[in-house]
Amino acid sequence: MKRLLILGGTAEARALAGLTKDVPKLATVLSLAGRTTDPLDQNVETRIGGFGGVSGLIDYLTDSNVDLMIDATHPFARQMSAHANDAAIRVGLDFLRIDRPVWGRKPDENWIRVPDLAAAVAALPPGARPFCATGRGSLQQFTSRSDIYPLLRVIDQGQAVFPGAGEFVVGRPPFDLEAEIQTLKSLKATHLVVKNAGGTAGRTKLAAAGQLGLPIVIVDRPNLPDGVNIVPDAAAAFAWIKARMNAA
Ligand code: NAP
Repeated sequence: MKRLLILGGTAEARALAGLTKDVPKLATVLSLAGRTTDPLDQNVETRIGGFGGVSGLIDYLTDSNVDLMIDATHPFARQMSAHANDAAIRVGLDFLRIDRPVWGRKPDENWIRVPDLAAAVAALPPGARPFCATGRGSLQQFTSRSDIYPLLRVIDQGQAVFPGAGEFVVGRPPFDLEAEIQTLKSLKATHLVVKNAGGTAGRTKLAAAGQLGLPIVIVDRPNLPDGVNIVPDAAAAFAWIKARMNAA
C-alpha cells in the first residue's frame, strides 16, 4: 500500500483526489487549511487544519507513513508550498507541485501589473469601486483605504457586516462569462483586482472586465522554491503517481 498526501484547496486537488480514489493499493488523504466553513466534498478522506509549520508537517508525514506528497495548493499559497518543499527534502519524500500556467493578457484587456497586494491597493484611484477577487485574506489591505469602496468576493458570508465602506459579494466558483459581466455591471465596479492565479474557469472575470473596458489590476505570481518538480494539471500529476505505483 502506498500513502499519498494531497495538499489541497483547489479544483486541481479535488480532481486529483477523484482520479486516485479507486486506484488499488493507494490510500489518499487530502488536506485542507480549513478556510471555508462548508467545503465541497473532496472525493477522498480529508483532514482539515494547519500542520503546525514545517516540523508539524514532518511529524505528520512520518507518523502517517506518507510515501508520496503532491502540493496542489493555490498558486498564491506560497507558505504552504515552501513548507511542503522543505519537509519533503528533509524526510526524503517523493514530491510534486501542480502549478497552473499563468494567464497572459488578451488584446482587449487593460492590465496594470503589480508585484503584490499592497501595490494593487495603492494602484487604485480615489473613488474606485474595485471588484476584488483576491480572497477574504485580502480584506484588511482593502479596508486600509477609506477613499475606495471595495467589492470583495468571498465563498461564504462568514463575517456578516463589511467592516467599513465596501461590501462582500458572496459566490462560489465557477462563474461563467455572462454571470461575471452581470456581476461587474450590477455592482458598478470600476476596476477588477485579481491575482494571476491561472486556470480556465477563473479567467472568465478577466474576459468580462475586458468586454466592459474595466482596468484589471493583476498581482504577479510569487516564485516557487528552486528545484521543485512541477506539472501543470491533475492529469499530469496522476501520471506521475501511476509511474511511481508501477515502479513499486
Ligand atoms: P498559505 O499562506 O500558503 O499557508 C498558511 C498556512 O495555512 C500554512 O503554513 C499551513 O499552516 C496552512 N495551510 C495552507 N494550506 C493548507 C493545506 N492545504 N492543508 C493544511 N494546512 C494548510 O495559504 P493561504 O494562502 O492562506 O491559503 C490557504 C488555503 O486556501 C490553501 O489550501 C490554498 O490552496 C487555498 N486557497 C488559497 C488562495 C489564495 O489566494 N492564497 C486562493 C484559493 C484557495 P501550518 O503552517 O500550520 O501547517
